[in-house]
Amino acid sequence: MSEQIPVRDDTPRAQDSDSVDLYAQREKIYTRAFTGLYRNLRRVGGLVLFILFFGTAWLNWDGRQAVWWDLPERKFYIFGATFWPQDFMLLSWLLIICAFGLFFVTVFAGRVWCGYTCPQSVFTWVYMWAEKVTEGDRNQRMKLDKAAMSGRKALRKMAKHGIWLGVALLTAITFVGYFTPIRQLVPDLLSLDVGGWALFWIAFFTLATYGNAGFLREQVCIYMCPYARFQSVMFDKDTLIVSYDPTRGEKRGPRKKGIDYRAQGLGDCIDCTLCVQVCPTGIDIRDGLQFECIGCAACVDACDSIMEKMSYPKGLISYTTEHNLSGQETHLLRPRLIGYAIALIAMIGLFGYALSTRSLVELDVLKDRVLFRENSEGRIENVYTLKIMNKAQRDLTFVIDAAGLDGLIYEGQREVKAAAGEILSLPVELSIDPEKLPSSTNEIVFKVQSADDPSIHQDAESRFTGPSVR
Ligand code: SF4
Ligand code: SF4
Repeated sequence: MSEQIPVRDDTPRAQDSDSVDLYAQREKIYTRAFTGLYRNLRRVGGLVLFILFFGTAWLNWDGRQAVWWDLPERKFYIFGATFWPQDFMLLSWLLIICAFGLFFVTVFAGRVWCGYTCPQSVFTWVYMWAEKVTEGDRNQRMKLDKAAMSGRKALRKMAKHGIWLGVALLTAITFVGYFTPIRQLVPDLLSLDVGGWALFWIAFFTLATYGNAGFLREQVCIYMCPYARFQSVMFDKDTLIVSYDPTRGEKRGPRKKGIDYRAQGLGDCIDCTLCVQVCPTGIDIRDGLQFECIGCAACVDACDSIMEKMSYPKGLISYTTEHNLSGQETHLLRPRLIGYAIALIAMIGLFGYALSTRSLVELDVLKDRVLFRENSEGRIENVYTLKIMNKAQRDLTFVIDAAGLDGLIYEGQREVKAAAGEILSLPVELSIDPEKLPSSTNEIVFKVQSADDPSIHQDAESRFTGPSVR
C-alpha cells in the first residue's frame, strides 16, 4: 500500500494566547512570462478548450442548436439526443464518472487538471497574457504600479481592463448562449432587444469572469477551491508531482560560470528565484510540496531554461514522484489506482448501457381519485389519465394497451400521434365484468409501443380497483 506524502499547509494558527487575523493580506503576484515545453502544452490545451467552449455554442444539429439547455421546456439537447428531467439519473451517473475520473487522474498525475484544464487557470493565463501585452513584462508592470498616475499609465490600464472585460463579456454571452439559443441571443443583444434574465446572467458571468481571472486569481485556488484542500488525501508516494530535487539542488547559491561549484559545497540551484517569479500562486517549490501548487509546471520550464544556460542537466525541478526522489522505485500500478480504474471502467460501462437502453417514450399513469364506478352495462369501471412523452427527435405514432386481468376492456384512443418532444395527456377507461374480478385491488400494466419503431416502448404499472370480493 502506498503511503501518503506530506503537503505543507502554512495557514497561520494561534499559538497559546496569540490571536490570528482571519484576513490574510494579499500580496500582488507579478508573474514572469516564460517559454518551454509545458507552457506550450498548456497553450495547446487551452486553445482546444477555448475552441470547444466558444465554437460548440454555434453548432447546429437537426435544425436546432446542438448543445442547448432549454430551461423553460426542461429539456437538454446534446447533438442528436434529448434529455428530460426524467433522465436526471443519467446526469448523476455522469457527474459520478467525472468525480472518479478526477480521482484517478489525481492519484496518477497530481493536479494536472488544475494546471492545464481548470477554467480558473485557463482564463487566468489568458488574462496574464493580456496584462503582458498591455503593461509589459514583470519588471515593467511592477514599475508601472509604483509610478504616479499619468496619461501613459491610464492608457495602459484602460487597455488591459478593456481586453479583460471583452474576454469576460464574450465568455458570458457564450455561456448564456447554451441556455438561450446563441444565434438568437447575439442579434437580440445587438438590437438591444434582450430579455431581463438573459441580461442579468450576462452581467453576472461577465463580472464573475472579470473578477476571478483578473483579480482573485490564485486566491480562488488557495481559499475557495475545496479540491486543493483534499489533494493531500489523494496523493501517495507514487503520484506524479512537481518537485524540486533538494539532494541535487542544495546547497543553493550563486556561483561564477565555469568554477567547480561542487568543490565549494554548492548544489545545482543557483538561487536565481526564477521558479518563484513564474509561479502563478507565488510559492517557492523548493520549500516542498504545498497545497497552493496547482501543478502547472511553469517552474519546471523556468528552471530547465536556467539549467540549460548553466550547462547542467535539466530536471532539477520536474514531474517526479516521492519514491523517485528518495531513490526508490516508482510503482505505477498500485492498488488504489487499479481500484479507481476498475470503478471508472465499470461506471462508464453502466452509463453506456443505461444510455443505449434509454427509452425514447415515457409513460406515467395517474389513476382517478374515484376508486371505481359501475357503468350502464353493470361492468366495473376505473378511469386513468395517461401521460405519454415522446422523447425522440421525430414524430411518432403510439399504440396503447392494458393487460394484467382477463376480460379487461380498454375504452379510449388506441393510437395516438405525438410530435417530437410532445407530452400527450390521454383519458382512458378500463372496465371488467365484476364476476371476473379476482380481488378488490389488482395489479395491471399499461403498455405503449411505437408503431413506427417497435423498439421504442414503455410499460407502467397501475391498479384496477373494484368492490370487495366475497
Ligand atoms: S529556477 Fe532552478 S536554479 Fe533558479 S532558484 Fe529555482 S530551482 Fe534554483
Ligand atoms: S510551484 Fe511550480 S507547478 Fe506549482 S503552481 Fe508554482 S509554478 Fe506551478
